[in-house]
Amino acid sequence: MALYPLFADLAGRTVLVVGGGAVAERKIAALLKAGARIRVGAPAITRAIAGHVRAGRVEWRFGDYEASWIDDAWLAIAATDDAVANARVAADAQRQRVLVNVVDDAVLSTFHVPAIIDRSPLVVAISSGGTAPMLARAVRARLEMLLDHTLGPLAHLFGRYRERIRAAQPQLAARRRFYEKLIEGRVGALLRSNRSRAAEQALRSALAERDVRGAATGEVVLVGAGPGDPGLLTLHALRALGTADVILHDRLVSDEVIELARRDAVRIDVGKQAGGHAAIQSRIHALMLEHARAGRRVVRLKGGDPFVFGRGGEEIEFLRDHAIPYRIVPGITAALACAAYSGVPLTHREHAQSVQFVTAHCKASLDTLDWRALAAQHQTLAIYMGVGELEAIQSRLIEHGRAGTTPFALVENGSRPDQRVICGTLGHLASLAKAESVRAPALLILGEVAALAPRLAWFGESAPHDERLASAA
Ligand code: SAH
Repeated sequence: MALYPLFADLAGRTVLVVGGGAVAERKIAALLKAGARIRVGAPAITRAIAGHVRAGRVEWRFGDYEASWIDDAWLAIAATDDAVANARVAADAQRQRVLVNVVDDAVLSTFHVPAIIDRSPLVVAISSGGTAPMLARAVRARLEMLLDHTLGPLAHLFGRYRERIRAAQPQLAARRRFYEKLIEGRVGALLRSNRSRAAEQALRSALAERDVRGAATGEVVLVGAGPGDPGLLTLHALRALGTADVILHDRLVSDEVIELARRDAVRIDVGKQAGGHAAIQSRIHALMLEHARAGRRVVRLKGGDPFVFGRGGEEIEFLRDHAIPYRIVPGITAALACAAYSGVPLTHREHAQSVQFVTAHCKASLDTLDWRALAAQHQTLAIYMGVGELEAIQSRLIEHGRAGTTPFALVENGSRPDQRVICGTLGHLASLAKAESVRAPALLILGEVAALAPRLAWFGESAPHDERLASAA
């Protein structure tokens, strides 16, 4: 069956909904959004529908279906659980040339209600012609992820300037290019940064210049890639990867995450380079500048969260100083991911009232820490570290009063297929890590809460077997 897609203007027009249950309630809510005048016919209605009736938004015909309910309706929806009643509504509607939708009955229906992605005034509607509603729903879920929520405001903005843009760009092909540049360039980027006034300003100056010169400046999106499991990316991160021209990524970013980037994006691993940290950092700065100035969309992809022990601050300051537009997308930092994936709640009413994120990468960073404060009880330490510093961490914490019996969980390759969790007590930290040959990246969670790891583990081979879980229950 080939259907003709259409969007109906129902403002002020009568729509009949037969049935007063949960399905009818959902249909009514959507119809009210479109400004329809609703007549609901049913012997009983839900509380929410009754609320609409009381507020005067919906007219209620009480009782069993009568053919006269359909009079002067533009559309009808049969949403009762009585097949005979639904069929009668369909037949009466046909006779009166009123389009009718019978819920879950493609044969009796003369119109279908599509699955929608709502970025009003922009709306995407999906239909499978009644053959596979589940498939339409699955497509909808995918599109929901791709279409960001600034499309609505963008459509409003274009609506307001439509005539002026048409006047400034009378030729269709040129006008189309102009719009494309507005969407992909500064105007779209400013809206994504929640700066609608600046976006409108950028549109105005593009109009004044008659071309979109401003759009030629690219932007840099500083994106947190999370700890490795690609499922831990945010939607913003996924969208940035999907539209990137150039990706500058660290060594810590997993291949599975990089896989999600646009196929023809240029990927540059900026983690590997001789010459130490300073040389790496200045090369990253130079690359960001070069590609953004060439008008490209640059994604600077960093492991975990860019603002947690990631030099994100320095990179943003650099971009600011060079007037390169930027956005920042947070990521799930290693401490949160390792805690969740090893079954350690970082705080717990009985065991820890606070948590500290600490870095202990080298001797110099160890010396700047306040060990007395770190050694206090009933708090959790999440230590981002070089594996080589475990001995120093162990001895300094014990020197400053933390008990050798304090539990820890050392999480290697957190959230990745090869995750390992090594549990023990502070007094044996360094020796145990050595015996297990723990390698980077690894995160140390230390504190009373770490004792919960063996019991709450769920991820990877070290998690208890289902039989054990079942017998514990
Ligand atoms: N910005 C990152 C941290 C960078 S510092 C974030 O927010 O997570 C690098 C340290 O992070 C590593 O030495 C290690 O301690 C920790 N780390 C990062 N990813 C990890 C992972 N998947 N598993 C365990 N630790 C990880």
